[in-house]
Amino acid sequence: MRVANGVYVLPIPRSPQEPESFLNLTLIVDEQNGNTLVDAGLPDQMEAISAALVEAGIGVGGLRRIIFTHQDLDHVGSGATLVRQSSARVLAHPADAPYIEGELRPLKVTPEMLEQRPQMREVLERLEPVGVDEHLEDGTHLNLAGGTKVISTPGHTPGHISLYLEQPKVLIAGDALTAEDGSLNGPNPSMTPEMGTAIQSIRRLAELDVDTIVCYHGGVVSKDANGQLRRVIRKASRDGVE
Ligand SMILES: [Zn+2]
Repeated sequence: MRVANGVYVLPIPRSPQEPESFLNLTLIVDEQNGNTLVDAGLPDQMEAISAALVEAGIGVGGLRRIIFTHQDLDHVGSGATLVRQSSARVLAHPADAPYIEGELRPLKVTPEMLEQRPQMREVLERLEPVGVDEHLEDGTHLNLAGGTKVISTPGHTPGHISLYLEQPKVLIAGDALTAEDGSLNGPNPSMTPEMGTAIQSIRRLAELDVDTIVCYHGGVVSKDANGQLRRVIRKASRDGVE
């Protein structure tokens, strides 16, 4: 699905058992500076990602870089396979890099979590570490899509980042925000250990002039994006999450 010139959202079904639940990867097509994929699904989703890339007009081999918004395994899962098939460079925030590279165990994979969700054990076994080639700090400017700014948005994880594509005014929010049927919501509380920090991060996002928001879980928000950001913050204040 094309959301702006050169910006495509690629919805990948989370699993055959959950055909209605999608992970929304973003592809930034840039003929001059190379194509970029933002986030890489769960382990073993290579086939679906590859098909979505072909549908968007480029193959896996046409990827120049992969940016991870954060370390969670539904975002880095097929990263290692994608890198092998494309030699893309991998970019992520330094606070999440050691988890992505397998130096540290993914932050949310605790013995309690595995107890509650035993099916994650199998997913974890198939997770391959991915080497990070370049660190993305807050404020980094990337020469992509006419200018893309990296915004550090911790809370969901310490090294969570969002990307702001300045020309088309597209915000790739990762898991800093979620959406449902075009309506914007805050991050998933059960998966966001530092909720107060996450709301502070949304305050920073609300300073941007945004036309379109892409949420990894929930997809595209295009109606009154700025107003919806402010609404999410007001609701957090009312709920006392600050
Ligand atoms: Zn996620």
